[in-house]
Amino acid sequence: MAHTPVERQAQVPPATDLYNIDHLLSEEERMVRDTVRKFVRERVLPIIGEHFEAGTFPRELVPEFAELGLLGMHLDGYGCAGLNAVCYGLACQELEAGDSGVRSFVSVQGSLAMFPIYAFGSEEQKQRWLPRMARAGSMRTSARRDGDSYILNGTKMWITNGSIADVAVVWARTEEGIRGFLVERGTPGFTTSNIHQKLSLRASVTSELHFEDCRIPAANMLPNVRGMRGPLSCLNEARYGIAWGAAGAARTCYEVALDYAKSRIQFSQPIASFQLVQQKLVIMATELVKAQLLALQLGRLKDEGLLHPVQISVAKRNNVREALKTAREARSVLGANGITLEYPISRHMNNLESVFTYEGTDDIHTLIIGQAITGISAFS
Ligand SMILES: Cc1cc2nc3c(=O)[nH]c(=O)nc-3n(C[C@H](O)[C@H](O)[C@H](O)COP(=O)(O)OP(=O)(O)OC[C@H]3O[C@@H](n4cnc5c(N)ncnc54)[C@H](O)[C@@H]3O)c2cc1C
Repeated sequence: MAHTPVERQAQVPPATDLYNIDHLLSEEERMVRDTVRKFVRERVLPIIGEHFEAGTFPRELVPEFAELGLLGMHLDGYGCAGLNAVCYGLACQELEAGDSGVRSFVSVQGSLAMFPIYAFGSEEQKQRWLPRMARAGSMRTSARRDGDSYILNGTKMWITNGSIADVAVVWARTEEGIRGFLVERGTPGFTTSNIHQKLSLRASVTSELHFEDCRIPAANMLPNVRGMRGPLSCLNEARYGIAWGAAGAARTCYEVALDYAKSRIQFSQPIASFQLVQQKLVIMATELVKAQLLALQLGRLKDEGLLHPVQISVAKRNNVREALKTAREARSVLGANGITLEYPISRHMNNLESVFTYEGTDDIHTLIIGQAITGISAFS
């Protein structure tokens, strides 16, 4: 086979796409990415710092998420956009380049709330909830059958979007194993309270859900799944989005550090001219490329129906870990300015601490991968 000499290759690749990953995307995928990128630049970035500082979620953006088709984007029919997994991943990347809280809103709505209804709900439940949700939102909880209803009791901690959702998908132990229930806001016995004093994901609502003798009609149970397969398959969906999202947060930190290094003058030269600063930027750029390639291959496997959960663990673990390291290095490039909200880096760094923990902690993904490669479980 003939080789093209490397020397004949075109220009130096752009600093933010060292491996021409752009070239691996279809026209539709690039269009989705560019549309979400523009939305984040115009609508999210101007307000997100203030929301983070105030500890509020930018609710005013929700209709715009819906209009862009971001809610349940990878689901087909029922008012959802029906795009492929790579489009959904690219959208997560762009949203998290804005803020992990914004990506969390979209991925919890799409992967933890809409996906279980889509995959396991009755036709009536899908028709009733999915179009509305596309337009607009642990296991001590138990459910006991009582005639035509189930009686829910228990608490769910750390639930993203919990107090602002119209419907919650709640997985609970029943006599027949774990089942999923659709619990509508306002159902007697169902209350929520918000978790305050967070120093991470401040522009996102995190709640506790409380169920006290909460009567749910049996028709609100998801009929087509039983056991841990239900919640675990939703987690796979959400973790997939995080693998992409973390690359977005890392990209923002790297881009900001690169710009800053080229313009900040110390000892009569831009700090980008110092070898140690260049080394930091090179590590960030290289890890970004690796994270994006992992995420893209994950998406291609998902679109072909070949994705194994262990592969999601590899990408979630690596990409969040490396994004955190990138945020810390980028912060150091900005010196004291790096700790302010004027620049997005510390905001991303704090957010990524939550992302490191939720949807399977870094430790748990390590053990999942360890089990896969040794054949020995270290966590049973
Ligand atoms: C901002 C935010 C939003 C969230 N949103 C949601 C949501 O929408 N829905 C939802 O269901 N959850 C959500 N979570 C909860 C999140 O998934 C949990 O916090 C996470 O699973 C860890 O559980 P934990 O906090 O109880 O920690 P623990 O389970 O107590 O773990 C503490 C530490 O021990 C380690 N550890 C635990 N068990 C083992 C083991 N067997 N082997 C080795 N190490 C172990 C962990 O890795 C971790 O380092 C959210 C969390 C945050 C911070």
